[in-house]
Amino acid sequence: MPTAADFQQMLRGVSLRVTAPRVAVLSAVHDHPHADTESILRDVRDRLSTVSHQAVYDSLHTLTAVGLIRCIQPSGLVARYESRVGDNHHHVVCRSCGSIADVDCAVGEAPCLTASDDHGYSIDEAEVIYWGLCPECAASRAHSSLT
Ligand SMILES: [Zn+2]
Ligand SMILES: [Zn+2]
Repeated sequence: MPTAADFQQMLRGVSLRVTAPRVAVLSAVHDHPHADTESILRDVRDRLSTVSHQAVYDSLHTLTAVGLIRCIQPSGLVARYESRVGDNHHHVVCRSCGSIADVDCAVGEAPCLTASDDHGYSIDEAEVIYWGLCPECAASRAHSSLT
């Protein structure tokens, strides 16, 4: 488990000033992978009661921009954040409840799908999202179809 000192080190590593909101946002995102902004806000407020909404939004934005956290936004869902960056992993999303799980990339480096025609673009990433039903939702569907 990274400590506050590790998070401070990560901020310094990308030449960002170490601030309490940034450290709190980094640890909240680390503790709750794929959490949305509202849950991160709640968690950060538990750690730092005086933090403003704006400071949390700004920290999320800054940390995403420098690549310390990653923002994922499957269509139809609100943005989620995670601290697992740099490994080009993908996500599986439940159509019913919106839960998200990590799926390791089979290739490991982006872009892991070769475009059949790149149209001259320099492509650096293929965004892959698997959609389906999570085990809980699949089970409750099977159950409700019996009744
Ligand atoms: Zn589900
Ligand atoms: Zn993930």
